[in-house]
Amino acid sequence: MAVKEITETQLDQSLLDEVEKKAHTKVSSCFQCLKCSSGCPLSREMDYLPAQIIRMINLGLREEVLKSRTIWVCASCETCTTRCPNDIDIAHVMDTLRELSLRAGVAEEEENLRRFHEAFLSAIKTWGRVHEIEMIGKYKLKTRTFMEDRDIGMKMFKRGKIKLLPEPIKGRKAVRKIFKNTR
Ligand code: SF4
Ligand code: SF4
Repeated sequence: MAVKEITETQLDQSLLDEVEKKAHTKVSSCFQCLKCSSGCPLSREMDYLPAQIIRMINLGLREEVLKSRTIWVCASCETCTTRCPNDIDIAHVMDTLRELSLRAGVAEEEENLRRFHEAFLSAIKTWGRVHEIEMIGKYKLKTRTFMEDRDIGMKMFKRGKIKLLPEPIKGRKAVRKIFKNTR
């Protein structure tokens, strides 16, 4: 990764407050032990490790954080959150950063990842949980990547990993209410 010089005027001191308030977690308590990053199953696909993102928030590197690939690659698996000795909810931080990135209109550089995120949330909003066929269909229509991952998709379908019909949960109304209240 190329080393980029950062000047003091580029640092945004309000980023830390904003993220801590929205994610309800104390990002400033990080002491860079790297336990989150060493457990992250997707770190190889990221441009910054989860611990680096946490450090960048503390430094106030708003633009770099909100434009990072990491926040869109994160699968919200919560491994990092579970491993953090300081109880920092890193998965929630990543989710918060995605929202900030969308609101700031800087998510376009990772357009397909953003579209996947939107298709994922749309399925959750409708069914209360992921309905893979619907999610994949929406993603493919928006990205026009119909043939991409076709082989692995067929294999998953044959093994019953992708179901034709949705399996809605009981609390669908409550989930929709959460979406409405957090809009
Ligand atoms: S596990 Fe927690 S304390 Fe350690 S680097 Fe990650 S966020 Fe910081
Ligand atoms: S929640 Fe995201 S950052 Fe944390 S371990 Fe999972 S994929 Fe990595």
